[in-house]
Amino acid sequence: MTHLMNFRTHPPLFFSSFTSHRLYYGHIVNTENGKVLDEVLVSKMDAPRTYTREDVVEINTHSGHVVLGSILDLVLKNGARLAEPGEFTKRAFLNGRIDLTQAEAVIDIINSRTEKSLEIATSQIKGGLKSTIESIRSTLLDILTEAEAAIDFPEDVGEIINAEEAIEVLEKKVIQDLKKLVDQYENARFLRDGLKMAVIGRPNVGKSSLMNRLIQEDRVIVTPIPGTTRDLIEETLNIHGIPVVIADTAGLHDTDDPVEVIGIEKTQEYINGSDLILFMMDANDPLTSEDIKIYETVKHKRLIMVINKIDLVEDEFELAIPEIWGKTPSANISALYGSGVGRLKDLIAKLATGEYRFEVRNRIVPNLRHKIALEKSLELAISVAKEIRKGTPIELIAIDIQETIDSLGEIIGVSAREDIIDRIFSRFCIGK
Ligand code: GDP
Repeated sequence: MTHLMNFRTHPPLFFSSFTSHRLYYGHIVNTENGKVLDEVLVSKMDAPRTYTREDVVEINTHSGHVVLGSILDLVLKNGARLAEPGEFTKRAFLNGRIDLTQAEAVIDIINSRTEKSLEIATSQIKGGLKSTIESIRSTLLDILTEAEAAIDFPEDVGEIINAEEAIEVLEKKVIQDLKKLVDQYENARFLRDGLKMAVIGRPNVGKSSLMNRLIQEDRVIVTPIPGTTRDLIEETLNIHGIPVVIADTAGLHDTDDPVEVIGIEKTQEYINGSDLILFMMDANDPLTSEDIKIYETVKHKRLIMVINKIDLVEDEFELAIPEIWGKTPSANISALYGSGVGRLKDLIAKLATGEYRFEVRNRIVPNLRHKIALEKSLELAISVAKEIRKGTPIELIAIDIQETIDSLGEIIGVSAREDIIDRIFSRFCIGK
């Protein structure tokens, strides 16, 4: 810690005599030439009450590239080194202060695109998913302990674990909870990954006009996440706190026919991969056979009918649409002048949260990695219950229970492989 010799307090104090977790006021001085670099606050925090559970020193400086750069230079010259991306969080995990789900929440907080995405990340950092997984694991450990007792001391335990009871516990405290968590992934996936929205309609109905308006009003600046590649350029919107991802108009509005640009197959793929379709029609132009054809390709999806160009028609106007379409939620808008677009956004947000019956607060939202491990654990737990019911030898059942426990352990990191851990921390772009 030689660089600390460059820190001068008033009155002078030796660094070793600093009290832990207290801020000290002073100056950073380059002792080679006596130059004062900045007026700073320094704190020394002794382990274990720190982010990483290790000793930590923090220097609070004025911001600005030059001053930060020169202080950093000096600190590096005196023996410090730059942190790897995610290094502090990885240390916090390896030192047992947080579990893997909480470490992932730190990345999610940094990458949060909207308020609601941030809300689920901050609720995860409190350890909601971790404690749910731990409680399911501990139920399984209890069953395993009983099973092992039955294996080791068959005379004393007599009948192997009480089958009925074990199955009931598995159903109520393991299988049901795992199912809920998997559902929760599906229901709330859009809050993490963004609700995928496609604007579909025949040429000239105003698709690009609407997309451009939405992008202008609600665009979110997104930092690219390493390792993600996409065919289409996408834009993320923040609609009432919900991240909504739409494919950029770049390819679409250069030609009248979107199908021509991305191909029929791709269009269908794009429609199928969307969570919500805005099916656009022109208020000033009667419905055509093309509109009907397009409706047929999107009708199986969650849909909002958007009747555009209402500025060109009477106030009381209603587009004549087939009766069976009538049940679809709809919005009359003018993409050109903006009227009705606010109501359209309300409808998008309502469909996203309402239809999925999703309330963010206090909910635990697994990510894709968790969901894969949860599904595997669920499958294993169901098979354990089946084996117990069938009367399979307890030794074999115990192996399956152990496997379920390990699979759950991967989520919180107690039995995660090193390469998985490395992959998770490589998602950090900064040295947090
Ligand atoms: P797309 O082919 O579906 O992407 O349609 P565009 O967004 O390119 O719009 C086609 C034409 O309709 C352009 O001339 C737009 O200015 C016009 N347009 C789009 N929305 C509206 C609207 O709400 N009202 C009026 N009057 N014209 C619109």
